[in-house]
Amino acid sequence: MAPGTRTCAGCGAVLAARMLLKATGKDVIVCEATGCMEVTSTQYPTTAWKVPWIHVLFENSASVATGVKAALEAQGNNHTQVIAYGGDGGMVDIGFGAVSGALERDDDIMIITYDNEAYANTGIQRSGATPFGASATTTPAGLESQGKKQWKKNIPMIAVAHGSKYVATASIGYPQDLQKKIKKAMQVKGARYLHIHAPCPIGWAFDSSMTIQVAKLAVQTGMWMLYEIDDGAFKRTMTPELKPVDEYIKLQGRFKHLKPETIKIIQERINASWKEMDNLEKCGVNLRTIL
Ligand code: SF4
Ligand code: MG
Repeated sequence: MAPGTRTCAGCGAVLAARMLLKATGKDVIVCEATGCMEVTSTQYPTTAWKVPWIHVLFENSASVATGVKAALEAQGNNHTQVIAYGGDGGMVDIGFGAVSGALERDDDIMIITYDNEAYANTGIQRSGATPFGASATTTPAGLESQGKKQWKKNIPMIAVAHGSKYVATASIGYPQDLQKKIKKAMQVKGARYLHIHAPCPIGWAFDSSMTIQVAKLAVQTGMWMLYEIDDGAFKRTMTPELKPVDEYIKLQGRFKHLKPETIKIIQERINASWKEMDNLEKCGVNLRTIL
């Protein structure tokens, strides 16, 4: 990624793209769904991408990546990594059918979501990846509403349920962990899925100087958990002593309306998931086999 994109100051999504490309090197083709990273990086006639890059629709980046991979193979090119890339809107919701199809066919591509937890480039509407309780323009907090009513959609686990050989979560707050996972995914043949948590100062309403702090706190409080599922084996790649979730929530305007009883519900949910992840690791069950 070249410097000087048109993202907002403190944008976590552009850091995700930069970290991704540092790990992959230049032998890649990126097929990117409409979204923040597309509108801010490629205003005609300029581009910030120093690798081959295709803009595709919200709904079909994974299908286009599959086609690009097939074309490369027909030319005898088996080395170029093809990446289907998009935000949570493009991958978790609108483009999920194409993502699911590529995972189920085990097409030889990397599918990567940068998750800013909203439809950010169209005005911060809630997505399937928006967390419970967050205020968004389509789930505004007010007298009658406490923000989004549903929990975040768990796409990494849905990806492994398709039989994907390598699935991982990552965060821009931990670049080394992120890049290690990208490099590992590059060694695997078939459809691989990575989900990168990328804080958005505009949508989440925090100061643009705090992006990395917010990203780290998401992991340190358990609001975002770092793990990988390598050939079905689940393993957390970071197991911090969890801080109270309030430390993460209080930094962000999208949660400022939350009452203590709602924060307690979120904390209880984190505690329960953390405990289940402990169990999952200890029992050593193979998720590719059972799901
Ligand atoms: Fe980045 Fe958020 Fe701005 Fe989009 S709205 S460019 S994700 S900071
Ligand atoms: Mg988004």
